[in-house]
Amino acid sequence: MSLVTSRYNLTVPYEDGALLFNANSGAILHLHSEEGVELADALCAYPALFDLQGVDEVILERLLKAGFILDDTQDELSIVRERFNFSRQNASAVITVMVTNDCNLGCYYCFQSRSEDNLAGDKEANTLAYLKQRIESCGKKQVHINWYGGEPMLKRDYISRLSYALQAFAEDSGIRFEASILSNGTFWPKNPLAFVEEHKLTTVQITFDGTEATHNKIRRRRGKAGPEYNQFAEAVRVIDAIHKDCHVEVRFNLGPRNTQEIFDFVSFALQRGWLKEGSRTKLQLAKISPYSKGVDFIRSDQLLYAEFKQIVDRVRKLIPDHFFDSNTALGELPKPRRAVCSAVAEDSFIVGADRKVYNCGLQVGEKTSAVGSLERHNGNTVEQAQASWWRSFDPTERPKCKVCTFLPLCWGSCPKLHLEGDDHYLDEQSEYWRSTLPKRILNSVGATTEVAFNESQQFKTGKPTELDPTAGT
Ligand code: SF4
Ligand code: SF4
Repeated sequence: MSLVTSRYNLTVPYEDGALLFNANSGAILHLHSEEGVELADALCAYPALFDLQGVDEVILERLLKAGFILDDTQDELSIVRERFNFSRQNASAVITVMVTNDCNLGCYYCFQSRSEDNLAGDKEANTLAYLKQRIESCGKKQVHINWYGGEPMLKRDYISRLSYALQAFAEDSGIRFEASILSNGTFWPKNPLAFVEEHKLTTVQITFDGTEATHNKIRRRRGKAGPEYNQFAEAVRVIDAIHKDCHVEVRFNLGPRNTQEIFDFVSFALQRGWLKEGSRTKLQLAKISPYSKGVDFIRSDQLLYAEFKQIVDRVRKLIPDHFFDSNTALGELPKPRRAVCSAVAEDSFIVGADRKVYNCGLQVGEKTSAVGSLERHNGNTVEQAQASWWRSFDPTERPKCKVCTFLPLCWGSCPKLHLEGDDHYLDEQSEYWRSTLPKRILNSVGATTEVAFNESQQFKTGKPTELDPTAGT
């Protein structure tokens, strides 16, 4: 048997030696001394034959078990592919219901085209029947409904009607029901916690653009009619009421117009107890980006990734790591991915307010992106072609991803970026992993050294060479 090094080995300097990490198994080893560093470096050469001569059996066993070396007949890429396909087939059904296209606020960067389209009214029975049919036919024992808009709370009564009907259906069918909502924090009822409990909301995401004055300026109210309200104060009221009982994602959108505001906002959130023990809040820092072609002007009015990262690093020093969402937290050592995004998960889909069915929430309203409609179950030719693209998305076949060391952790990032050939944002993903992964590896052993991977550590396309395996043993 010949043994070869894994493509997914990575190393960072640590204390007297090096940490060796395998992205496909999640295993980590501390190798001591100069010889340990040599062994780690040798194992990171790819692909390289591993000469068994003189290697301590215990070390060999450990390296094999942890996936740092493997039998040369094994195809690592197909292992990643199988894991991806298994996760896509076995993901729980996540159904996003875009209740309305309308929104009471007008953020300049919003990628959604606002309209009067909504799912409430005389076609409610149709929508319910469609959802029941899809839930029943997929055979999953758990369903998650994600209420989305526009601003979904503009149609709060409709959410309640549909939620109660689906909860009753799920109970009769022995299916576990849970839900989440993305809201701007306005138009909530007097008792937000009662609403959360009655609609089985496990997560509420509320977005901010700054402290009060900036938030209200960027998230300006649309339309003159109706009662006056303070959009910032409303969102704060909702979070105050629910953050100890429900998972709250406080998303802060960062762009060149509000970079300094995040620090005041974090102080404010700390004062309110949102980022202190006993709270179930997570802070999500998001870079304002042109999520659709309609807001392409943002390309020239956004933070560079390096600027964004600098701010994130500063904010990290202000609050405990576990109050960040998983993209920002350094948290634990990253594990190989087990969950696909809902756009490629079997049995997950989005019902648009235009009554069309989509795979990705960022495509809702794009006429040629639908994969079906509430009335037409099999879709027309364009819809079938779209559906087939999502079904066949495979990150292990994307030219860059298939040679990328981060693939088992990243799975090609966002499939929509591949669909649109958006290399700029795909490159940002590479940058994200190159700068974040070494920090997370070191953080797992309590170290905080500043180190980043480079492109040659990320993309491994070399030819087999002999390596000296005895170094460090
Ligand atoms: S980091 Fe980039 S190249 Fe690597 S898997 Fe993710 S998207 Fe693909
Ligand atoms: S394709 Fe991208 S934008 Fe769409 S749901 Fe998946 S990760 Fe999100």
